[in-house]
Amino acid sequence: MKGDLIIAIDGFSSTGKSSMSKIIAKNLNYTHIDSGAMYRAVTLYAFQKGFINNKKIDVNSLIDHLIDIKISFKKNDQTLKNHTYLNGIDVEQEIRSMEISNMVSPISEIPAVRDYCVHLQQEMGKNGGIVMDGRDIGTTVFPNADIKIFITASPEIRAKRRFLEYQQQGKKISMYEVLKNVKERDYIDSNRDYSPLRKADDAIEVDNSELNLDQTVDKVMSLIKELK
Ligand code: C5P
Repeated sequence: MKGDLIIAIDGFSSTGKSSMSKIIAKNLNYTHIDSGAMYRAVTLYAFQKGFINNKKIDVNSLIDHLIDIKISFKKNDQTLKNHTYLNGIDVEQEIRSMEISNMVSPISEIPAVRDYCVHLQQEMGKNGGIVMDGRDIGTTVFPNADIKIFITASPEIRAKRRFLEYQQQGKKISMYEVLKNVKERDYIDSNRDYSPLRKADDAIEVDNSELNLDQTVDKVMSLIKELK
């Protein structure tokens, strides 16, 4: 297989896209880019600057400051994972909080924020050899991607997976709250006017409701090998 393919893995929240993309990238000796981490980093920045108050976003101030936001990824020597950096600071843990999850979809609806993140994603992936996961990679970021996969699973199953993750991290968040967040993000992501979450016409859909992470990786790896 060629070493410079662009592999787009899109789908709903908490389908395990990032975890599987990371493993697939490692198998292929490719770079993994978690595009959702960028929207999360912009959301954290908006909180830090006080542009989010009582769930209200000061859109104009955020747009004016987009130029000051520098997002990058760097492999962490301890976790051996790619960590997200916001203006030079490792924010990998912070961007995964429920507070960020609750505001990231409204932030990602803002067209200027999307343009900013999409441009960065295109720059990071332009030479290929990447697995990028997100919502609009196969439709907007890389419409000519070599391989497009679209992952789905029922909202209840996705929420349960996320809930167990939070439990393992010792975070006290109810199943109700997690399911509500999953459904809200599905709705906002699928219904926004600008670059909504949808399956690209030429993407292959994989429902992993009944599959664990290893089984999903096996399935996607065999699809990749079949297609290329
Ligand atoms: O992938 P993750 O769940 O971390 O993404 C967080 C949020 O970022 C999504 O719910 C969505 O609102 C937004 N996002 C997006 N486009 C992408 C990736 C993520 O709008 N390509």
